[in-house]
Amino acid sequence: MKKPVVSVVGSINMDLVVSASKRPIAGETILGNDFQIIPGGKGANQAVAISRLGAEVHMIGRVGEDTFGANLIEFLEKESIFLGGVETLPDISSGVAVVTLADQDNDIIVVQGANKYVTPDYIRKFEKQIAESDVVLAQLEIPIESVDEAARLCHKYGTTFILDPAPAQELPSSLVEYADYITPNQSELSQLTSEGMMSLKQYPQKLIVTEGKSGVMYFDGNDIIKISSYPVKAVDTTGAGDTFNGAFGYAISQKYDLQTACEFANAAAALSVTKLGAQGGMPTMDEVKEFLY
Ligand code: ADP
Repeated sequence: MKKPVVSVVGSINMDLVVSASKRPIAGETILGNDFQIIPGGKGANQAVAISRLGAEVHMIGRVGEDTFGANLIEFLEKESIFLGGVETLPDISSGVAVVTLADQDNDIIVVQGANKYVTPDYIRKFEKQIAESDVVLAQLEIPIESVDEAARLCHKYGTTFILDPAPAQELPSSLVEYADYITPNQSELSQLTSEGMMSLKQYPQKLIVTEGKSGVMYFDGNDIIKISSYPVKAVDTTGAGDTFNGAFGYAISQKYDLQTACEFANAAAALSVTKLGAQGGMPTMDEVKEFLY
């Protein structure tokens, strides 16, 4: 069977994760417990999720000319992701997320770096790639005008466009119109329009709301359909949404109906939360099949 061709338009970050027993107050220096450097960014995470399931994945994004950029490229290559759409920019840092884990909570500062330069012009360079894709996945860690441009190109060529509207911000009406599916989590849902909550009934078969361990819901035109998540022992829910989007994109590329696509994505996301790290738990297709059958 031919592999689905998927393009992911989005961020590529390095996550710098410090754990400490408390947070420093302004001006204070404290000793931390542990430090890890972990590849991340919602774009790269979703690319890894869908590549592990067996799609031919083409990443469209930018990194900086620094050690993190080089490491991120090497890492994505190991995940069998095509990088013809990933450019290294001189004199710009790669995107980084500085994460502090303390008091059972996390603080995050994101420096967009090269992700900020994923401009609409840059997206247009990959028009042919987008036209030839079965599905394009996008999120909002690059400029929203660029996401809008990707959606417009998908609309032009009949490529399915799936938007994960995270981090949440108000969406231009063209982006809402051109997106085939929009997949906020519950807290993002209320921040997507200036009028407040986007309602499920307003966007039948388009708005798919993930609800953590409660699963997912959408409106099918007649009823609100709720699909339960799979009961698992959650170890780390970081990246659950990214795994959900990758798996949902895979299922849609295979022409699964919406309910089956949500069930498949729920299964992949449930598996992902049983292991540490956003990408650490992202399952392969064999692992999802074994879990389901
Ligand atoms: P995000 O990670 O974007 O905040 P959610 O928390 O809504 O998104 O999680 C996305 C999906 O991951 C859910 O719809 C569900 O399928 C799965 N998921 C999340 N948390 C759990 C959990 N504790 N147990 C099983 N599945 C989960």
